[in-house]
Amino acid sequence: MDVSDDLVNGWYGVLYMLVFVFSIQTLVVGKSTSWQFMNFQLLAITFCAYFLNIHVPYYFFGPIVLVYMVFNQSLGYWQSWGHAITLMAFFWTLNFVRLRFHNLKIEPFVYMITVIGYGGPLWTWMKFKFNFTWSTFWQEWLYMTIFEALLYIYITMLSHDSEVKLQLEKFASHDALTQTGNFAAYKDDIECLFSDSVKKERPLSMMMFDIDHFKNINDTYGHLTGDHVLQQVSSVVQTVLDANDSKVLFYRTGGEEFNVVFPGYTVNDTKIIVNQIFIAINHLQIHSGVKPVSVSISVGVSELTSDDKTSMDFYNRVDQNLYYSKRNGRMRVTVA
Ligand code: GH3
Ligand code: MG
Ligand code: MG
Repeated sequence: MDVSDDLVNGWYGVLYMLVFVFSIQTLVVGKSTSWQFMNFQLLAITFCAYFLNIHVPYYFFGPIVLVYMVFNQSLGYWQSWGHAITLMAFFWTLNFVRLRFHNLKIEPFVYMITVIGYGGPLWTWMKFKFNFTWSTFWQEWLYMTIFEALLYIYITMLSHDSEVKLQLEKFASHDALTQTGNFAAYKDDIECLFSDSVKKERPLSMMMFDIDHFKNINDTYGHLTGDHVLQQVSSVVQTVLDANDSKVLFYRTGGEEFNVVFPGYTVNDTKIIVNQIFIAINHLQIHSGVKPVSVSISVGVSELTSDDKTSMDFYNRVDQNLYYSKRNGRMRVTVA
């Protein structure tokens, strides 16, 4: 099983809330005011059911409620049983709303309706059990509504921040036009792969290609068509890679220059994928305007050798092979 950080954090959250709920209740257990912390406990339940990034199923929640009732000495009260069942339904509904309405515009409304809708019955059971006044009942229901709304606003703001961070990270490592890895990502990855391959004596290969006479395409059809060609070429390469091996990495390292990195591949292993890419692009017809545009690429391929002292030595050899293809008629593959 892949235990991610998020999952671990999620279970910590549940554990933390359990400790919180039980320890706060020890202060009032058995007293006539043992309902006093219920709004905090409802908040904790909402937090686990709705905001944690793990899904705690309701049948998991059931036994916890039972243990809580034993602990709270309330097994003998019919009101407490009604309360427990309502609580389970509340938990289930929160799970459902999260699943069904997450990221929709109406999500906050559905959430608030759920919270207000269950707040009434939950506090009604308590009113019957403890016989507090109706004004206390209304007050507690109102407090619950306010707390739950604040919880929603607070957590939505927090997660918005982390989404923005993720976006920024993506911007920093991806090329905006083609959605492939950018030069910065290439540099980071190749350093890692290089040292890893040297250490473990694991093969590493690289293909580099450059679109032929790309300047002509820009000059003839316009810069926008040029951009469109770059997107189409990238998309074709990505499709070939997805169909073969998702571990092969793809970057746009220059204007119309791309690198494909093959971790664990000898140069011989790369043949099939390299050929598929080469043929697919050379047969590509890009429709943008009146006449379809055809493109071709020149390719260089090589494998890491024990003579390569840095990743740059490796890169330069692939680059020289590409240059050789360019000098010898273009639209060809040079492997050395
Ligand atoms: P060669 O076959 O020798 O590679 O010739 P070429 O015309 O492809 O190469 P050259 O280096 O002379 O021209 C590359 C052109 O790519 C020049 C530049 O304006 C264009 N270019 C670079 N980045 C982009 C881009 O993001 N969009 C568009 N439309 N053009 C770009
Ligand atoms: Mg070119
Ligand atoms: Mg170029």
